[in-house]
Amino acid sequence: MTETILRSFGQGTKPLLIIHGGAGHRSTPLTPDGTTSAHAALEKVLTAGYSVLSAGGSAVDAVVAAVRELEDAPDFNAGHGAALTASGTVELDASIMAGDGRSGAVTGVSTARNPISVARAVMDKTDHLLFATPTHEQLSKWDVETVDPEYFITEKRREELAAFQKQPDALLQHGTVGAVARDADGNLAAATSTGGIVNQEPGRVGDTPLVGAGTFADDGTVAVSCTGTGEVFMTEVAAHSVHDRVSLGGASPNEAAVAVLDRIAIRGGMGGMIVIPTSGTGLAAYNSGDMFYGSFDSTGTYTHV
Ligand code: ASP
Repeated sequence: MTETILRSFGQGTKPLLIIHGGAGHRSTPLTPDGTTSAHAALEKVLTAGYSVLSAGGSAVDAVVAAVRELEDAPDFNAGHGAALTASGTVELDASIMAGDGRSGAVTGVSTARNPISVARAVMDKTDHLLFATPTHEQLSKWDVETVDPEYFITEKRREELAAFQKQPDALLQHGTVGAVARDADGNLAAATSTGGIVNQEPGRVGDTPLVGAGTFADDGTVAVSCTGTGEVFMTEVAAHSVHDRVSLGGASPNEAAVAVLDRIAIRGGMGGMIVIPTSGTGLAAYNSGDMFYGSFDSTGTYTHV
């Protein structure tokens, strides 16, 4: 079992943003250029999200701003540059939850530029929680920017799919993006977005668009965004399990995150998560060998690529 790495950020009840760019990227060899570009992208993402918090904005607005930037960057598996299905298409998933209990999610997006904005529209503008493959009419009713599906597909991902189909390697099937935030009013939010896993069968859905599994937030406990073996994160209802361990089991957020990742490993999965509690330090934890992540608080930014 790979050891769980844990890193803490922030303090007290101050505004805090933590982001991730997916677990397990070291299994996908990055060129030196790729690493540099991912690092620059994370800095941009942190600045976009934290500027919302430092201006007194809400945790929901901050996680949406951060995840939109992550989706637009080609370095991560979400939005533009997402992993391709076995048919060479994109099927994008996203979810968001506010700490007051509101949430929205979407799966099978291929024509909305920012799936996280679709999830937010579902939360803000509909009576429902989860939509599959929203129609063009629904997207325009929700005032979401649409694009041609080709916008999402990069040459790097085409090459990755061809290489995978020649020689499958489960270690390559990772990547997702996410953000968790605590705002100046003490409200929490979590958001997660993904292209799923390379070469997944069309129609496969992982944990990312499932509130409770890939994303969860409660103003009284924690905000959580996950990345990793989707099937196992679903089985463990991973994000909600962190909340349960804190609220019912009396665990610290650190203990809860490590315990959930241990359960994931016991079931044959791997991955990571970012967590911010109502009060105290936030964390990034992973047992996937590596994970892109970063944070921004009143002392400045930190990134790990
Ligand atoms: N959890 C994502 C999925 O199963 C993949 C990942 O985060 O690595 O779709």
